[in-house]
Amino acid sequence: MDHKKIETAVKMILEAIGEDPEREGLLDTPKRVARMYEEVFQGLNQDPSEHFQTIFGEDHEELVLVKDIPFYSMCEHHLVPFFGKAHIAYIPKGGKVTGLSKLARAVEAVARRPQLQERITSTIAESLRDSLAPHGVMVIIEAEHMCMTMRGVKKSGSKTITSAVRGIFENDQAARAEVMSLIKS
Ligand SMILES: [Zn+2]
Repeated sequence: MDHKKIETAVKMILEAIGEDPEREGLLDTPKRVARMYEEVFQGLNQDPSEHFQTIFGEDHEELVLVKDIPFYSMCEHHLVPFFGKAHIAYIPKGGKVTGLSKLARAVEAVARRPQLQERITSTIAESLRDSLAPHGVMVIIEAEHMCMTMRGVKKSGSKTITSAVRGIFENDQAARAEVMSLIKS
């Protein structure tokens, strides 16, 4: 990542809004923002499927749900945060499962870059589908978008919910309902 370029750009933004980048409180701001961007955008060079190392587990062909995985991302339209929880459900096939912590890592890899909530949701679902070839995958994400809550319509606390459904969940309404009730419980 090009720290110097980020620093120059942040300094220019400060000047452009009419601030004085040389005043004490702002002197190190370009450097701080560059370091922060390195961290919040570190998913850019990660492939989420790297985290889905397959483990051959039990022949457990029943629902696995990991819910309330916290994540932070940056809206690609405004470069301000959106954040919330991801819920990932899948039904393994042929004993192919993945470590539960790997699901959280994959969420981080996808979230830590300029993003759209819809794309995070479908990328996780498809990456899990392609890595484990399960019977089905369902990903639900609920998030609060700062670009909605701190400006414009200012709907503080409002949540956006997205879902991506692949495999047997596409046609099995009862299976989808089971996931939804487990997420809410
Ligand atoms: Zn936005």
